[in-house]
Amino acid sequence: MFKDKVVIVTGASRGIGRAIALKFAKLGANIVVNYRNSVEAVEKVKTEIEELGGKALIVQGDVSNFEDAKFIIDRAVEEFGKIDILVNNAGITKDGLLLRMKEDDFDKVINVNLKGAFNCIRHVTPIMMKQRNGKIINISSVIGICGNAGQVNYSAAKAGIIGMTKSTAKELASRGITVNAIAPGYIVTDMTEVLPEKVKKNMESIIPLKRLGKPEDVANLAAFLASDDAAYITGQVINVDGGMVM
Ligand code: NDP
Repeated sequence: MFKDKVVIVTGASRGIGRAIALKFAKLGANIVVNYRNSVEAVEKVKTEIEELGGKALIVQGDVSNFEDAKFIIDRAVEEFGKIDILVNNAGITKDGLLLRMKEDDFDKVINVNLKGAFNCIRHVTPIMMKQRNGKIINISSVIGICGNAGQVNYSAAKAGIIGMTKSTAKELASRGITVNAIAPGYIVTDMTEVLPEKVKKNMESIIPLKRLGKPEDVANLAAFLASDDAAYITGQVINVDGGMVM
């Protein structure tokens, strides 16, 4: 389905990003695997992609840094000559109640989760415009839609991603580029592993499909949105949340 396509996945060393990278590799794509810190994990992802028959280029870089984002995009073009799909997945949490939230914890989450996506889109856009095709997929969150106590920074960033997705979709549609957002619910990864067992059990009980999500649940939608079957879909936000928010 994606034979010879080039896909950049930011934050692909672990969790949802890793699952998205492996899904595209399984479907024939070559993958640019971005990460920030997890060297061992990212090497493992590269091996897994190669075992699936794909090429993997690891590019270290902090997406919140404008120049690092440029480096990630430049390396992809240098290696593969084009970029078909960009998945803005890299994200962090720094939770805390508003009254106690440090300014730095607000800034860091906005810088990685929102500005990081802007940085990558900003640098990939001239390339996709020249190609007159491209797919951009931004990972938002249901928290950006319905909010959550203790996540003012995170929900602001994820709501920002939704606005940015729609504006970018409108700007780039005439150039053959689609831009969509995925809003996952509760997905089992390192990010959510830190939550108390009681919270997880409670989540399970309120999710209509009665289970927590898997990274692959998100990866399946990313592959669909990047496929020709989704050619007439742009500017949309699609939840992958077991029915949690509707
Ligand atoms: P993980 O914490 O498991 O993985 C985060 C990934 O992002 C890692 O690969 C990490 O790289 C990378 N990363 C973090 N900061 C940066 C940075 N500044 N530059 C480049 N890469 C970075 O998170 P998840 O897989 O759970 O989350 C992935 C995305 O999905 C995030 O945007 C998150 O907000 C979103 N999401 C997750 C949900 C969930 O329930 N898990 C629900 C809704 C949305 P490294 O390890 O090298 O630091």
